[in-house]
Amino acid sequence: MSKAIAVFGSTGTIGENTLQLIRDYSSLFHVDCLIAGKNIERLRGQISEFHPPFVSVERAEDADRLRREFPSLDVGFGEEGLKVAAERPSSEVVVMGIVGFTALAPTLSAARAGKTIALANKESLVVAGTLVKQEALRHGAKILPVDSEHNALFQLLEGRPRGDVRSLVLTASGGPLLRRPELPLEDVTPAIAIKHPNWKMGPKISVDSATLMNKGLELIEACFLFDFSPNDIEVWIHPQSIIHGAIWLHDNSCLAQLSKPDMKSSIGYAMHYPARLDGPIPKLTFKDMAQLEFLEPDTIRFPCLELAREALKLGPSHLIALNAANEVAVAKFLEGKLLFPQIPQVIRRVLERHQARAVDSLNTLFEIDRESRHASC
Ligand code: MG
Repeated sequence: MSKAIAVFGSTGTIGENTLQLIRDYSSLFHVDCLIAGKNIERLRGQISEFHPPFVSVERAEDADRLRREFPSLDVGFGEEGLKVAAERPSSEVVVMGIVGFTALAPTLSAARAGKTIALANKESLVVAGTLVKQEALRHGAKILPVDSEHNALFQLLEGRPRGDVRSLVLTASGGPLLRRPELPLEDVTPAIAIKHPNWKMGPKISVDSATLMNKGLELIEACFLFDFSPNDIEVWIHPQSIIHGAIWLHDNSCLAQLSKPDMKSSIGYAMHYPARLDGPIPKLTFKDMAQLEFLEPDTIRFPCLELAREALKLGPSHLIALNAANEVAVAKFLEGKLLFPQIPQVIRRVLERHQARAVDSLNTLFEIDRESRHASC
């Protein structure tokens, strides 16, 4: 029996890689539903190829169009469509490839429906890590991280007594600006910022990678996923993106997970878990590993990683503020309304003005998110 996969963000990078795996391993997987935003043209092609019984899109008018074009297809839209897709009894694995805060509600729905969640979205853990974990535990859902670093750490930590592990190591490629110290940050255009050297990713995460906020969000993600304090998580710039994560044990042994930088590795791991796919990506050779470099992050030029560490210390409501400010600042930068070095400035300002408060309900969480977005404008 092949596994039914719900693909959230099907027209994005994670979605397209997931569909490539379903294409390559058609005896193991099939599409249960596709969830996309506004890229209807690409979605149309995916519907024709994979024949899912259900799709959901962002806008009602796009849903109407698709209903006319594919009369036998069940089509949802908006928040309700996301919820329906996350809870479908027929799906076994939910691949959560939606970017940003929007993924929180369907991630919680999937957790409450007891799904296996291949979680590529980091923002949902940043703003509601404790809640997402609690709901997964309560309803027997399993969260398998797809972010390459966390997927590596998951593989290294699984089945290992927590007491054996001293600390975690997150690697970061350093992004497109690492080798360009001569370039004034004011001159960094969206085109430069989204040109990632190793990974093919969407615009938001590529800008996050250039500012190092991606690693900041990943640090927070790792604290929640693995119950480690930020002080026990090292970050190293590793431009080749071959070592995705490592753990230090108490006897000072270091274990690492290595592969070519290809998202199909961690997505395939999560989709087929606990079994392993036969060759979803080309094998690494020792020649590929001949010149691995490791550098300390430049936290002066790129302050976002430290902003994330500060927000972690200040508490959960500051994490929501951090994420909201970052999403707004990155969107404005991509629209040409903000300069690159203003991204951390906006985030710092929002964090400084934010008054810590208890995040005791989902309503409060959404309220803090809304206020912080407003404060970021
Ligand atoms: Mg990553």
